[in-house]
Amino acid sequence: MFSGTQLAAVLNALPDPAFILTRSGRYMAIFGGIDARYYHDGSHLIGKTIHQVLEAAKASWFQQEIEKALLSQALHIVEYGLAACDVKGLQSDGPAYSLWFEGRIQALDFPVNGEDAVLWVASNITARKELENRLRMLSEIDALSGLLNRRKLMHVLAEHFDTFQRYGTPLAMLIFDIDHFKRVNDEHGHLAGDVVIRTAADVCRSELRSTDAPARLGGDEFVVLMPHTTRDQAAPIAERLRQRIACTLQALGSIGEGATISGGLCEFRPSDGSCEDVLKRGDDALYQAKRAGRNRILCTE
Ligand code: GH3
Ligand code: MG
Repeated sequence: MFSGTQLAAVLNALPDPAFILTRSGRYMAIFGGIDARYYHDGSHLIGKTIHQVLEAAKASWFQQEIEKALLSQALHIVEYGLAACDVKGLQSDGPAYSLWFEGRIQALDFPVNGEDAVLWVASNITARKELENRLRMLSEIDALSGLLNRRKLMHVLAEHFDTFQRYGTPLAMLIFDIDHFKRVNDEHGHLAGDVVIRTAADVCRSELRSTDAPARLGGDEFVVLMPHTTRDQAAPIAERLRQRIACTLQALGSIGEGATISGGLCEFRPSDGSCEDVLKRGDDALYQAKRAGRNRILCTE
């Protein structure tokens, strides 16, 4: 039906680049993917191996995926990120930003250059990936404070609880609430209240380690998870956070005048049946701190 020239033209017109890669990772051919808005020209790769053009970890990953496709003989689908700078010797024409690809890898039923080989079609899925990331962020991040929201906090807490039950890895949890926050809203308006919430969140971000997870539980209530930390180790951190938040809020001027926080500090216990138990203990300690006169952190037994 098609002449050899027409078949070559069809292959060249494939919207996404299709590579023939051997088991040892040598690029034997590339077809299609000629639109420079989406793809770089990969023709210079032919004859080279993935180990020659990619950094070691990425090349090993490619090799491993080729191996999986050869082993299964079924369509093997992967997703991966790749920037032009990750590939040695790539022409500058083509997208400058880091790209996400979906690789569809199928074993070929004939050897190429004396080796088993696969057809690897690489589709640019960057737009979809960016949308996914944006949706994930919207579903996990509290819009006002930029901290984790309640839903994500509960998810992270549950994951840490599983690790604690399996390996005994400690986790300390601070739950704190701004004292007399209603007054800020009443006296200075809701927008001023929002500034106070955002400021408390900023202090959490700047004072805590990157592995700690600060979250806004709702209203003026926050939670800080401190993984790999016992309650006793967390006590001075929580105390420093209390002081820094109070200082920073008071530096806001009239809206933060006399502003303080109260908190409850606790940790996972072997007797906990679920992560709700630790939240409950933290909440009880916070309540006690309020009753004891506010502006303090109380630890549970
Ligand atoms: P306490 O010392 O006992 O904590 O007293 P409080 O006045 O801080 O009381 P509470 O923590 O119960 O009140 C929280 C208030 O936070 C109630 C609500 O009107 C207000 N609030 C909840 N969400 C927001 C928000 O997103 N922005 C602002 N500005 N205020 C909020
Ligand atoms: Mg409050």
